[in-house]
Amino acid sequence: MYDYHMHSLYSGDIPKGKGNSVDELCETAIARGFTEIAITDHCDIDGIYYGAFPKLDINGVYRDILRVREKYFDKLSLLFGIEIGQASHMPLETNLLLERYPFDYVIGSVHSVRGIIDFAELKINEVTDAELLLLWDKYILEMKELIHWGNFCTLAHITYPFRYLKFAGREKLLDLENKGRELFEEILKAIIQKGISLEVNTSGIRQGLGQTMPNDDLIRFYKELGGEMITIGSDAHYARDLGVDIKETREKLKAFGFKYITRYKNRKPFLEKM
Ligand SMILES: [Zn+2]
Ligand SMILES: [Zn+2]
Repeated sequence: MYDYHMHSLYSGDIPKGKGNSVDELCETAIARGFTEIAITDHCDIDGIYYGAFPKLDINGVYRDILRVREKYFDKLSLLFGIEIGQASHMPLETNLLLERYPFDYVIGSVHSVRGIIDFAELKINEVTDAELLLLWDKYILEMKELIHWGNFCTLAHITYPFRYLKFAGREKLLDLENKGRELFEEILKAIIQKGISLEVNTSGIRQGLGQTMPNDDLIRFYKELGGEMITIGSDAHYARDLGVDIKETREKLKAFGFKYITRYKNRKPFLEKM
Protein backbone atom coordinates (compact mmCIF):
# COMPACT_ATOMS: atom_id res chain seq x y z
CA MET A 1 0.00 0.00 0.00
CA TYR A 2 1.03 3.55 -0.71
CA ASP A 3 0.25 6.91 0.83
CA TYR A 4 1.07 9.71 -1.58
CA HIS A 5 0.25 12.81 0.47
CA MET A 6 1.50 13.69 3.94
CA HIS A 7 3.21 16.46 5.85
CA SER A 8 6.16 16.39 8.21
CA LEU A 9 7.05 18.90 10.92
CA TYR A 10 8.63 21.07 8.21
CA SER A 11 5.22 22.02 6.84
CA GLY A 12 4.50 25.65 7.68
CA ASP A 13 0.88 25.03 8.68
CA ILE A 14 1.88 22.69 11.53
CA PRO A 15 2.54 24.48 14.84
CA LYS A 16 6.19 24.40 15.94
CA GLY A 17 6.96 21.39 18.11
CA LYS A 18 3.74 19.59 17.17
CA GLY A 19 4.46 17.77 13.91
CA ASN A 20 6.21 14.47 13.27
CA SER A 21 9.68 13.94 11.89
CA VAL A 22 10.26 12.14 8.60
CA ASP A 23 11.65 9.27 10.65
CA GLU A 24 8.49 9.04 12.79
CA LEU A 25 6.28 9.10 9.69
CA CYS A 26 8.31 6.24 8.20
CA GLU A 27 8.06 4.18 11.38
CA THR A 28 4.28 4.65 11.44
CA ALA A 29 4.02 3.79 7.74
CA ILE A 30 5.94 0.55 8.20
CA ALA A 31 3.92 -0.38 11.29
CA ARG A 32 0.72 0.16 9.30
CA GLY A 33 1.81 -2.02 6.38
CA PHE A 34 2.78 0.65 3.86
CA THR A 35 5.62 -0.05 1.46
CA GLU A 36 5.87 3.37 -0.16
CA ILE A 37 5.06 6.89 1.03
CA ALA A 38 5.66 10.38 -0.28
CA ILE A 39 6.56 13.26 2.03
CA THR A 40 4.83 16.23 0.43
CA ASP A 41 5.39 19.28 2.62
CA HIS A 42 3.58 22.51 1.88
CA CYS A 43 5.09 25.12 -0.33
CA ASP A 44 2.36 27.71 -0.90
CA ILE A 45 4.63 29.65 -3.12
CA ASP A 46 2.81 32.97 -3.37
CA GLY A 47 1.95 32.97 0.34
CA ILE A 48 5.62 32.44 1.15
CA TYR A 49 6.62 35.24 -1.21
CA TYR A 50 4.20 37.70 0.42
CA GLY A 51 5.03 36.54 3.95
CA ALA A 52 1.58 35.09 4.64
CA PHE A 53 2.77 31.47 4.76
CA PRO A 54 5.89 30.20 6.57
CA LYS A 55 8.84 29.33 4.35
CA LEU A 56 9.57 25.66 3.73
CA ASP A 57 13.04 24.47 4.69
CA ILE A 58 13.42 22.26 1.63
CA ASN A 59 17.08 21.53 2.37
CA GLY A 60 16.06 20.29 5.81
CA VAL A 61 13.36 17.96 4.48
CA TYR A 62 15.61 16.68 1.73
CA ARG A 63 18.45 16.00 4.17
CA ASP A 64 16.11 14.05 6.46
CA ILE A 65 14.66 12.08 3.57
CA LEU A 66 18.11 11.03 2.33
CA ARG A 67 19.14 9.92 5.81
CA VAL A 68 15.92 8.10 6.65
CA ARG A 69 15.65 6.53 3.19
CA GLU A 70 18.92 4.78 3.90
CA LYS A 71 17.77 3.65 7.34
CA TYR A 72 14.60 1.90 6.09
CA PHE A 73 15.71 1.03 2.56
CA ASP A 74 14.74 -2.65 2.89
CA LYS A 75 11.29 -1.93 4.31
CA LEU A 76 9.99 1.27 2.78
CA SER A 77 10.34 3.28 -0.40
CA LEU A 78 10.43 6.95 0.58
CA LEU A 79 9.61 9.53 -2.06
CA PHE A 80 10.80 13.12 -1.93
CA GLY A 81 7.65 15.03 -2.76
CA ILE A 82 6.28 18.51 -2.38
CA GLU A 83 2.82 20.07 -2.38
CA ILE A 84 2.98 23.32 -4.30
CA GLY A 85 0.10 25.70 -3.70
CA GLN A 86 -0.86 28.28 -6.30
CA ALA A 87 2.01 27.50 -8.69
CA SER A 88 0.22 29.32 -11.48
CA HIS A 89 0.56 32.59 -9.53
CA MET A 90 4.35 32.28 -9.73
CA PRO A 91 5.14 29.82 -12.52
CA LEU A 92 8.70 30.95 -13.16
CA GLU A 93 9.73 30.75 -9.50
CA THR A 94 8.06 27.37 -9.21
CA ASN A 95 9.84 26.01 -12.28
CA LEU A 96 13.18 27.15 -10.83
CA LEU A 97 12.43 25.48 -7.52
CA LEU A 98 11.46 22.24 -9.25
CA GLU A 99 14.69 22.27 -11.24
CA ARG A 100 16.79 22.81 -8.14
CA TYR A 101 15.75 19.65 -6.25
CA PRO A 102 15.42 16.00 -7.34
CA PHE A 103 11.75 15.61 -6.48
CA ASP A 104 10.10 12.26 -7.09
CA TYR A 105 6.60 13.58 -6.93
CA VAL A 106 4.94 17.00 -7.17
CA ILE A 107 1.41 17.73 -6.01
CA GLY A 108 -0.37 20.70 -7.58
CA SER A 109 -2.90 22.41 -5.32
CA VAL A 110 -5.09 25.47 -5.27
CA HIS A 111 -5.69 26.51 -1.65
CA SER A 112 -6.57 30.10 -2.40
CA VAL A 113 -7.39 32.31 -5.35
CA ARG A 114 -5.54 35.52 -6.17
CA GLY A 115 -5.92 38.21 -3.54
CA ILE A 116 -7.98 36.02 -1.16
CA ILE A 117 -6.66 33.97 1.75
CA ASP A 118 -6.76 30.17 1.91
CA PHE A 119 -10.31 28.81 1.95
CA ALA A 120 -9.39 27.18 5.26
CA GLU A 121 -8.88 30.64 6.82
CA LEU A 122 -11.80 32.39 5.16
CA LYS A 123 -14.68 33.44 7.42
CA ILE A 124 -17.23 31.86 5.11
CA ASN A 125 -20.24 33.04 7.06
CA GLU A 126 -19.26 36.66 6.46
CA VAL A 127 -19.35 36.05 2.71
CA THR A 128 -22.61 36.30 0.71
CA ASP A 129 -23.88 33.51 -1.54
CA ALA A 130 -23.10 35.54 -4.65
CA GLU A 131 -19.55 36.21 -3.45
CA LEU A 132 -19.04 32.55 -2.62
CA LEU A 133 -20.16 31.51 -6.10
CA LEU A 134 -17.79 34.07 -7.58
CA LEU A 135 -14.96 32.65 -5.47
CA TRP A 136 -15.85 29.17 -6.65
CA ASP A 137 -15.73 30.29 -10.31
CA LYS A 138 -12.31 31.82 -9.67
CA TYR A 139 -11.18 28.62 -8.02
CA ILE A 140 -12.20 26.56 -11.07
CA LEU A 141 -10.45 29.04 -13.36
CA GLU A 142 -7.27 28.88 -11.32
CA MET A 143 -7.28 25.09 -11.42
CA LYS A 144 -7.49 25.32 -15.19
CA GLU A 145 -4.57 27.75 -15.16
CA LEU A 146 -2.60 25.34 -13.01
CA ILE A 147 -3.27 22.46 -15.42
CA HIS A 148 -2.29 24.68 -18.34
CA TRP A 149 1.05 25.39 -16.61
CA GLY A 150 1.19 21.65 -16.00
CA ASN A 151 4.61 21.12 -14.42
CA PHE A 152 3.35 18.75 -11.71
CA CYS A 153 2.33 15.11 -11.26
CA THR A 154 -1.05 15.02 -9.59
CA LEU A 155 -3.96 17.41 -9.09
CA ALA A 156 -4.86 17.45 -5.41
CA HIS A 157 -8.17 17.55 -3.57
CA ILE A 158 -10.12 19.11 -6.44
CA THR A 159 -13.20 19.79 -4.30
CA TYR A 160 -11.15 21.58 -1.61
CA PRO A 161 -13.37 24.71 -1.08
CA PHE A 162 -16.45 22.50 -0.86
CA ARG A 163 -15.15 21.15 2.45
CA TYR A 164 -15.30 24.61 4.00
CA LEU A 165 -18.73 25.31 2.56
CA LYS A 166 -19.91 22.08 4.16
CA PHE A 167 -18.37 23.02 7.53
CA ALA A 168 -20.28 26.30 7.35
CA GLY A 169 -23.53 24.56 6.35
CA ARG A 170 -23.48 26.24 2.93
CA GLU A 171 -22.86 23.15 0.77
CA LYS A 172 -26.28 23.38 -0.92
CA LEU A 173 -24.92 26.36 -2.81
CA LEU A 174 -22.79 24.11 -4.99
CA ASP A 175 -24.81 20.90 -4.87
CA LEU A 176 -21.83 18.74 -5.82
CA GLU A 177 -23.94 15.58 -5.72
CA ASN A 178 -26.07 16.74 -8.65
CA LYS A 179 -23.97 19.36 -10.41
CA GLY A 180 -20.46 18.05 -9.78
CA ARG A 181 -20.03 16.54 -13.23
CA GLU A 182 -20.93 19.80 -14.93
CA LEU A 183 -18.56 21.77 -12.67
CA PHE A 184 -15.56 19.47 -13.15
CA GLU A 185 -15.90 18.08 -16.67
CA GLU A 186 -13.36 20.42 -18.27
CA ILE A 187 -10.87 19.95 -15.46
CA LEU A 188 -11.06 16.17 -15.56
CA LYS A 189 -10.73 16.11 -19.34
CA ALA A 190 -7.76 18.48 -19.18
CA ILE A 191 -5.76 16.37 -16.71
CA ILE A 192 -6.45 13.22 -18.72
CA GLN A 193 -5.21 14.95 -21.84
CA LYS A 194 -2.07 16.22 -20.06
CA GLY A 195 -1.16 12.96 -18.32
CA ILE A 196 -1.64 14.48 -14.87
CA SER A 197 -3.06 12.04 -12.33
CA LEU A 198 -6.12 12.62 -10.17
CA GLU A 199 -5.54 12.54 -6.44
CA VAL A 200 -8.14 10.86 -4.26
CA ASN A 201 -7.60 12.58 -0.93
CA THR A 202 -8.97 10.62 2.01
CA SER A 203 -8.76 13.46 4.57
CA GLY A 204 -12.36 14.44 3.86
CA ILE A 205 -13.59 11.15 5.32
CA ARG A 206 -12.03 11.73 8.73
CA GLN A 207 -12.50 15.50 8.78
CA GLY A 208 -16.27 15.71 8.73
CA LEU A 209 -16.87 15.97 4.99
CA GLY A 210 -17.83 12.30 5.13
CA GLN A 211 -16.30 11.54 1.73
CA THR A 212 -13.07 11.66 -0.20
CA MET A 213 -12.05 14.67 -2.26
CA PRO A 214 -13.31 14.30 -4.95
CA ASN A 215 -16.46 12.37 -4.09
CA ASP A 216 -17.42 8.96 -5.51
CA ASP A 217 -19.52 10.34 -8.33
CA LEU A 218 -16.69 12.51 -9.62
CA ILE A 219 -14.25 9.61 -9.39
CA ARG A 220 -16.65 7.49 -11.45
CA PHE A 221 -17.06 10.35 -13.91
CA TYR A 222 -13.27 10.59 -14.30
CA LYS A 223 -13.26 6.89 -15.14
CA GLU A 224 -16.09 7.31 -17.65
CA LEU A 225 -14.14 10.11 -19.35
CA GLY A 226 -11.23 7.71 -19.80
CA GLY A 227 -9.19 8.61 -16.70
CA GLU A 228 -6.92 5.88 -15.41
CA MET A 229 -4.20 7.64 -13.45
CA ILE A 230 -5.05 7.77 -9.77
CA THR A 231 -3.03 8.44 -6.63
CA ILE A 232 -4.36 8.11 -3.09
CA GLY A 233 -3.18 10.24 -0.18
CA SER A 234 -4.21 10.70 3.42
CA ASP A 235 -2.99 14.33 3.61
CA ALA A 236 -1.91 13.47 7.16
CA HIS A 237 -0.43 16.39 9.09
CA TYR A 238 0.39 14.05 12.00
CA ALA A 239 1.51 10.41 12.10
CA ARG A 240 -1.81 9.37 13.69
CA ASP A 241 -3.61 10.10 10.39
CA LEU A 242 -1.07 8.47 8.11
CA GLY A 243 -2.67 5.97 5.73
CA VAL A 244 -6.11 6.34 7.28
CA ASP A 245 -8.91 5.11 4.94
CA ILE A 246 -6.47 4.30 2.14
CA LYS A 247 -7.10 0.55 2.08
CA GLU A 248 -10.87 1.03 1.89
CA THR A 249 -10.51 3.72 -0.77
CA ARG A 250 -8.31 1.46 -2.86
CA GLU A 251 -10.94 -1.29 -2.68
CA LYS A 252 -13.61 1.19 -3.69
CA LEU A 253 -11.59 2.31 -6.71
CA LYS A 254 -11.24 -1.31 -7.77
CA ALA A 255 -15.00 -1.72 -7.48
CA PHE A 256 -15.39 1.39 -9.71
CA GLY A 257 -13.37 -0.43 -12.36
CA PHE A 258 -9.93 1.14 -11.94
CA LYS A 259 -7.23 -1.37 -12.78
CA TYR A 260 -4.15 0.62 -11.82
CA ILE A 261 -2.68 2.77 -9.13
CA THR A 262 -0.18 5.37 -10.30
CA ARG A 263 3.23 5.53 -8.69
CA TYR A 264 6.04 8.00 -9.33
CA LYS A 265 9.82 8.07 -9.34
CA ASN A 266 11.83 11.10 -10.46
CA ARG A 267 8.48 12.70 -11.34
CA LYS A 268 7.77 10.00 -13.93
CA PRO A 269 4.52 8.04 -13.57
CA PHE A 270 4.18 4.32 -13.87
CA LEU A 271 0.93 2.44 -13.62
CA GLU A 272 0.86 -0.57 -11.36
CA LYS A 273 -1.90 -3.17 -11.40
CA MET A 274 -4.11 -2.97 -8.30
ZN1 LIG B 1 -3.53 20.79 0.09
ZN1 LIG C 1 -1.58 18.57 1.97
